[in-house]
Amino acid sequence: MLATQEKTIDEGRQGEVFAAFKEDPNQYSKHFYIESYGCAMNFNDSEIVASILHENGFGATKNIEEANLILINTCSIREKAEQTVRNRLMHFKGLKRNKPDILVGVLGCMAERLKAKLLEEEQLVDLVIGPDAYRSLPALVAEAEGGQKGVNVLLSRDETYSDIAPVRLDSNGVSSFVSIMRGCNNMCSFCVVPFTRGRERSRDPHSIIREVQDLVDRGYKEVTLLGQNVDSYYWTNEDGSEVVTFAKLLELTALVSPQLRVRFSTSHPKDITDEVLFTMKQYPNICKNIHLPLQSGSTRILQLMNRTYTKEWYIKKLDRIREVLPECAITCDIISGFCTETEEDHQETLEVMRYAQYDLSYMYIYSERPGTLAARRYADDVPEDVKGRRLKEIIAVQSEVSTKVFKSCIGKRFEVLIEGNSKRSDEHWCGRTTQGRMAVFPKEDFPVGKGDYVTIEVSDATSGTLIGHICKD
Ligand code: SAM
Ligand code: SF4
Repeated sequence: MLATQEKTIDEGRQGEVFAAFKEDPNQYSKHFYIESYGCAMNFNDSEIVASILHENGFGATKNIEEANLILINTCSIREKAEQTVRNRLMHFKGLKRNKPDILVGVLGCMAERLKAKLLEEEQLVDLVIGPDAYRSLPALVAEAEGGQKGVNVLLSRDETYSDIAPVRLDSNGVSSFVSIMRGCNNMCSFCVVPFTRGRERSRDPHSIIREVQDLVDRGYKEVTLLGQNVDSYYWTNEDGSEVVTFAKLLELTALVSPQLRVRFSTSHPKDITDEVLFTMKQYPNICKNIHLPLQSGSTRILQLMNRTYTKEWYIKKLDRIREVLPECAITCDIISGFCTETEEDHQETLEVMRYAQYDLSYMYIYSERPGTLAARRYADDVPEDVKGRRLKEIIAVQSEVSTKVFKSCIGKRFEVLIEGNSKRSDEHWCGRTTQGRMAVFPKEDFPVGKGDYVTIEVSDATSGTLIGHICKD
């Protein structure tokens, strides 16, 4: 399967609007409308923002015409992501002309990156709020209602919103995201995240487990533990007597219910330790799927990227995963055309891809981000057409590999968690295997439904979907 968009969400979710409560007992006099862009963290943050606003007298609306407050939760990872947001802001400008009392707020990474500049550049913006400042939203809205534009982009060393129960977007009622940490300390030279999301901090595990238990009680069957770098999760209590590593947290989550599938996203290869691998092996309900971003197959480029591993080290890590977890699917992120990348460097990337046999890769053209180490130190010197051509070659190799990986499942049996009707037909279910592979199969009057586990036998496959039938024996 191929993907050239942000991981952990699909392109279809970009610009998704928050749904109002179906049976909301409260009557709200004011309404907010929120659109979200970027990674799964942002979508989860929008759920936290919704919770804060509900507590403060705002109901959610999907109808922008009805809104008193329009929010846009933004992404800065590539220039294109920011351009999408600017286009949406232009659209809101039109609405504000007809209804001048509407307040418009920019949240998330772009707010953090551009700060007060957004108020100046985009004349219609009333509020600019960074990812660690959502608690101040009600106070800033109140000030803005009085005509005072507000900015809060303070980054925090300890904000994890651990006490705020997110209001779920309820996409399918089967799987949900649970945020476990925020920020990133890694400083990869191409990446804006450490600047927009601040220092790494881990959320109290007790509040995580409470949230997971609550989801299980409400019938959810799958959680994805979420963070910029989940596998560097590390929490201690104040006196240091209680320590929870990522492996331990995985175990605690798996123990909430054997019926609950546990996934995690996204990880840095350096933090996928043996402890994590053996915990995954021990618990059948921890899904056998690891996202192991490569970025480049050339050690020289990896060093310029400040990725802290070499090609050889990465290959050893791949081998170790396959040794401990032979059934584990591995997925990847790749950047084409980073500063100084030569044809030889590019060939090395293709070589590692062929060796790794990734289920899928998220593949990007390098986009220079202002303020990053790479922008300050290195020239963005690979011509755009060369970046584009190399990306096409990367996509072609991934397509070949994905087809091979998916076809190798033909004739085998897999347990699948049913997520709902298949997109193409109400006569078919769709769901995922533990590896995260999408499967489609006919319902055939078999007494199962959304949220149930079934075993399927695969009879055919494309590069991104398994096709099969339910095993009745
Ligand atoms: N923490 C994860 C890791 O280290 O692998 C990655 C999170 S990042 C938000 C998601 C992906 O976006 C990265 O793995 C990288 O491939 C891509 N990315 C980040 N900055 C980029 C840039 N300046 N240009 C192109 N792609 C970029
Ligand atoms: Fe960005 Fe690197 Fe942190 Fe991932 S690990 S969020 S790529 S700085």
